[in-house]
Amino acid sequence: MQMISQPVGRGVANTNRADVRLIQQLLNQHRKPPLRMLMETGVIDAETIAAIEEFQKRVVMMSVPDGRVDPGGATLRALSNPPTTAGPTARPHSIDALIALVQGEFPDAGIRITGRGRTIRRQAELMAQRRLVNQQQFLSTYRHAPHITEMDTWVTQHPQATESQTIAEFEQIITRARQNGATVSNHLSDTARDISIPLGGHTVQSTIRRRIEELGGRVIDERDAVGGPHWHVDR
Ligand SMILES: [Zn+2]
Repeated sequence: MQMISQPVGRGVANTNRADVRLIQQLLNQHRKPPLRMLMETGVIDAETIAAIEEFQKRVVMMSVPDGRVDPGGATLRALSNPPTTAGPTARPHSIDALIALVQGEFPDAGIRITGRGRTIRRQAELMAQRRLVNQQQFLSTYRHAPHITEMDTWVTQHPQATESQTIAEFEQIITRARQNGATVSNHLSDTARDISIPLGGHTVQSTIRRRIEELGGRVIDERDAVGGPHWHVDR
């Protein structure tokens, strides 16, 4: 993140010209036509304050912009990120495009795709393994639905069943549920990806989660997953 020694913008002294100039430069990097470029004078003016407010509304998603950039604050953090190629309302056309966009915007988060589209067989394996390892986790991971109850009940009623028998049964349950219109998993329709949990701590993670949601995605934090901690992202 970029550093400034004092706040810049509305209602503060703005005596450090290097700070003011840096903010003007960063704002310019995030301004595209029809927005006009600021003069990088190092002197605060009404245009610079208006540009801070415009940036806070458009990028930081502040409903009431304060027109001020604080050292270490959310506005400075957002200004320090590379400018986004898509505006906040432009929805990527696919889940892969969405992930690629977020990877590009948060390069330090080390986001990797760890799970893509799945076959019914693979989905059945994952669900069977999860149910066999921990019933409570299975029930809390998957949204309540008839096929989930059916799987859970089947395992309870067949304590001698092997893993492969369970998988075979789950495959049939999934197939039937999908024929009846249930989604079961967005991985089956290739509209979900699993990604590594973003690096950089809680604040960065919530910024990234908000950005994914803004782009039309949904995040399910699966840090207790049997196969290893990850975020499930779908749209
Ligand atoms: Zn997933």
